[in-house]
Amino acid sequence: MAKKTGPHLPLKPATRLVTGGRDSQSNHGFVNPPVYHASTVLYPTAEDQVAHRSRYQYGRRGTPTSEALENAIADLEGQSCAGVALLPSGLAAVSTALLAVISAGDHILVSDSVYRPTRTFCDSVLKRLGVETSYYDPLLGADIAKLFKPNTRAVFVEAPGSQSFEMQDIPAIAEVTHAKNALVLMDNTWATPLYFRAFDKGVDLSIQAGTKYIGGHSDIMFGTVSANAAAWPQLKATFGNMGLCAGPDDIYLALRGLRTLGVRLARHQESALHIARWLGKRPEVLRVLHPGLESDPGHAIWRRDFSGASGLFSIVLKPAPERAVYAFMNALTLFGMGFSWGGFESLVILFDCAEYRTATKWSPGGATLRFHIGLEDVGDLITDLETGFAALNSAT
Ligand SMILES: *Cc1c(COP(=O)(O)O)cnc(C)c1O
Repeated sequence: MAKKTGPHLPLKPATRLVTGGRDSQSNHGFVNPPVYHASTVLYPTAEDQVAHRSRYQYGRRGTPTSEALENAIADLEGQSCAGVALLPSGLAAVSTALLAVISAGDHILVSDSVYRPTRTFCDSVLKRLGVETSYYDPLLGADIAKLFKPNTRAVFVEAPGSQSFEMQDIPAIAEVTHAKNALVLMDNTWATPLYFRAFDKGVDLSIQAGTKYIGGHSDIMFGTVSANAAAWPQLKATFGNMGLCAGPDDIYLALRGLRTLGVRLARHQESALHIARWLGKRPEVLRVLHPGLESDPGHAIWRRDFSGASGLFSIVLKPAPERAVYAFMNALTLFGMGFSWGGFESLVILFDCAEYRTATKWSPGGATLRFHIGLEDVGDLITDLETGFAALNSAT
């Protein structure tokens, strides 16, 4: 169990990141728990075996290593967190959370700006199981009420939107959803529990691709689902019955990453805002999609509901030939071109939401690039981007 802090000590998130899930006395005084590679748990007597009398039952059902991370994440999520499931990837966390709340014949509402593989899961597995998905405009707040059907079981939100960074009015959506006896699922990977307190804003199941900022070093695949008391029994049963568990080494690395999440995110935030502002002044850039910027249409909601921004945002370039956009990307040396994000390194990808949107139209007016701003020196990153723009201009 997590060390209790006592009512006289309402610890701040930065402190909880350091103290959560730690139990040195059970680990011979060592600061960190050992990595238990484990399947079988041996019982001392036949009587104990028959009665399942043991703190741990079986590797799949939890070890001291997995418990330490569950407790640390629960501590970070806050008082309303009733339980945490650890999963082998972020997408497994998304699919498990959805499977926990739906049955054949149900209908769900999913934001049109959701992470694309979440969409694919709904359109394939959920469809095959007889669950209908309707995509909705992420900018709908309380007006989402008109999209509910008598069999609507859940609303899936993600803010800001994957790649396109629209903000969603999650408290307004949650109020409507709960009035209709449905549950709110959120992909909270961008902000993490540090910058968005999902349960306080009405979310019932909060998902993290732990691959991203919790891991933080581009070396694990990992995911979590945290649930409030209303959703935890369903999540616990579904997760357990499906036989899901994360590997012990990845769990350990996630726990290790969590300890430094606060300082890493602070730097990602600062450098990303600096570079987003700089990009906004470049003549080649039409628009910057970052809710932390005062000029962003989602800024007011971000200010109201979030306590920070991470290192991921997009830009829209002014119309330029494809070869010039490629020249920009190919000239960069500090920005790797690759999927995923949340590690210490900077990344860039070219994307196009128009390929898959169904509820909204995506026509931003130019090529769109998503940046992850890593922990490099911000001046070095800007020098690299200047080289990229020089290449873009000479190829135009
Ligand atoms: C990466 C990502 C996921 C999936 O995580 P994996 O660990 O890659 O499966 C889910 N949601 C969002 C928003 C992501 O960026």
